[in-house]
Amino acid sequence: MSLSQAQAASHQGILAYRLHGNCYLNLTWHCTLRCRFCPKFNGSWDVQGYDLRLHDEPDAEQILAAAGDVTDCKEIVFCGYGEPTLRLDVLLYVAERLKQQGAKVRINTDGLANLIHGCDVTPQLANVVDAVSISLNAHNEALYEQHCRPKRHGAFQALQNFARLAQQQGIDVTLTAIDGLEGVDIAACQAIAEQLGVKFRRRILDQVG
Ligand code: SF4
Repeated sequence: MSLSQAQAASHQGILAYRLHGNCYLNLTWHCTLRCRFCPKFNGSWDVQGYDLRLHDEPDAEQILAAAGDVTDCKEIVFCGYGEPTLRLDVLLYVAERLKQQGAKVRINTDGLANLIHGCDVTPQLANVVDAVSISLNAHNEALYEQHCRPKRHGAFQALQNFARLAQQQGIDVTLTAIDGLEGVDIAACQAIAEQLGVKFRRRILDQVG
């Protein structure tokens, strides 16, 4: 285990982990969605050998300590088995501090931050975030509701609005969908991304990390 990995593991769980030349940050286990396909609902919190179950939610300084020196990382990615924008203040603070080290910052998100916070947070994100990868997960609302089981109404439209606003703020936006998820038409998902003027990436079912 490298020093950075050793620093990353605390009594709270793994707060930062290294994969693919990136540093991934694990802020929370809470989600706005309850995706039927999520491994955590089957008891697996594993990503490429890292157990991302958190026993306590870390504060910003604990995350920064776990991240350590990120100057060798291609990207800082906020990503775990939870939605990082639910902890918006911590996310913004940590991202700003790491950007001061010259890091490129990405969020893997459900795209529901504006819905949850009740306002457009993309201007705040644009100050400290370079890219967002947003889980579209379906090509229509009915299928999205079936697979992702959002706790709030209007989530499918809200994530698309978020994508559009983030793009307008100059953030590099990618929508993702999972090939192999029942009923999901990947080409139709890609068409939604094209309509919004953002990028698209196809993911594979049961491949995490
Ligand atoms: S948003 Fe991600 S972590 Fe949350 S339930 Fe869905 S797949 Fe799991």
